[in-house]
Amino acid sequence: MAKIFNFSAGPAMLPAEVMESARQELLDWHGCGMSVMEMSHRSEEFLSIAQAAEADLRELLAIPENYHVLFLQGGASSQFAMVPLNLLRAGRSANYINTGYWSKQAITEAKRFCDVNVAVSGEDNGFTAIPAFGTWKLDPGAAYVHYTPNETIGGVEFDWVPDTGDAPLVADASSTILSRPFDVARHGLIYAGAQKNIGPAGLTVVILRDDLVREPLRGTPGMFDYRNHVQAQSMYNTPPTYAWYMAGMVFKWLKQRGGLAAIGDANRGKAERLYAAIDASGFYRNPVDRASRSRMNIPFTLVDPRLDDEFLRDAAGAGLHALKGHRSVGGMRASIYNAMPQAGVEALIEFMREFERRHG
Ligand SMILES: *Cc1c(COP(=O)(O)O)cnc(C)c1O
Repeated sequence: MAKIFNFSAGPAMLPAEVMESARQELLDWHGCGMSVMEMSHRSEEFLSIAQAAEADLRELLAIPENYHVLFLQGGASSQFAMVPLNLLRAGRSANYINTGYWSKQAITEAKRFCDVNVAVSGEDNGFTAIPAFGTWKLDPGAAYVHYTPNETIGGVEFDWVPDTGDAPLVADASSTILSRPFDVARHGLIYAGAQKNIGPAGLTVVILRDDLVREPLRGTPGMFDYRNHVQAQSMYNTPPTYAWYMAGMVFKWLKQRGGLAAIGDANRGKAERLYAAIDASGFYRNPVDRASRSRMNIPFTLVDPRLDDEFLRDAAGAGLHALKGHRSVGGMRASIYNAMPQAGVEALIEFMREFERRHG
C-alpha cells in the first residue's frame, strides 16, 4: 500500500492501528460470524459496542453524570438547527460569537428560528484572531451563547473557555474535540461531526446537560427533538452503527496513548514545529494572531500564489496529500488532527524547505 500522509480537513485520516483492527474484524466481529455493519443495532453484540464507546468517551472527557451523550446523524450542520429548536425560550433570542466560516453557518441557520445577537465578530480583522472577551456584547436575556472553539477553515482557536454565567454555553467542537483536555462542565451543550477527530463521517456526537432536555419549539420534527434521542439512548431510529463502532475504537486508541493530556501535548508539539517553520521563512505565511492559532488546522500561503498549483502537485508527488486550502480562502491548509503522526509534520516541513530552496 502506498505510504502517504493525508492532511485533509475532514473526512480526515484515522489512526493506523484503528484501521488495522477494523480490517481484521471487518467480516467477523469477535467470532460472532457477522460484520458490525450487518448487526442489528438492538443486538446484544452491538449494544456492548455502543455502551463501551460511550463509557470510554465519558472517561476521556471526564463528562459529568448529569450530561447525556448522544450518537446521532446529520452532521454538525443539523445541530445548527437542533440547538435553537431545543434551547430557545420565550423571547427567542440567542447570542452567537462570530469567529469565521462555521460560526457564520451556525448563525445563518439560527436566524430561521430566533433573533440572533452576534455578540462579537472577528470579521473586521479578517477572522485572524479570537476577539477578547471584554469586547463581547452579550444579551443577558438570551437563551444561550454559541461559539466555535476551533474554526477549521480560518485556523483560529480559543485557548480559553468563555465564562457566560447562567447562560448555557454551546460549542461547535467539531474540529477540536478530543485534541486536548476540554472542560465539559463549563458547557451546556457540545456537538461535533465525527469526521475530524472522532471517526468516519456519518456520526455526530452531542453532549448535553440534562436540564437542557426540554420542550422544543412548536413544529419541531421528532428527529430534531433531543428528548426522543435521550429517551431512546440514541436509538430513536437506526443509528450510524459502523461509524459508532469505529469511534469506539478511536476512543480506546486515545486511552492507550494516555488520554487527552498526552495527545494534547503531542498536538501542541506538532503545531509548534509547523508554525515555527512557517514563521522562520519569508516564503510562507500564516496570517493568524499567535495567541489564536489553531493546533488542528494550519492555513498558510506562498508569497507568490502563482506557485500554488506546483506546490500542491509536488507535495502530492512526495506523498503529502490534501494540502489545498478551503475554496473560500485559497492557499494551503495542513490539518493535523490526532491521527497525524509527528513524522507527517516533519515530512511536510522538509518538503516546504526543499520547495523554498528551489523557488525562493
Ligand atoms: C466540518 C465542520 C462542520 C460541518 O460538519 P458537517 O458534519 O459536515 O455538518 C461544522 N463546524 C465545524 C467547526 C467543522 O469543522
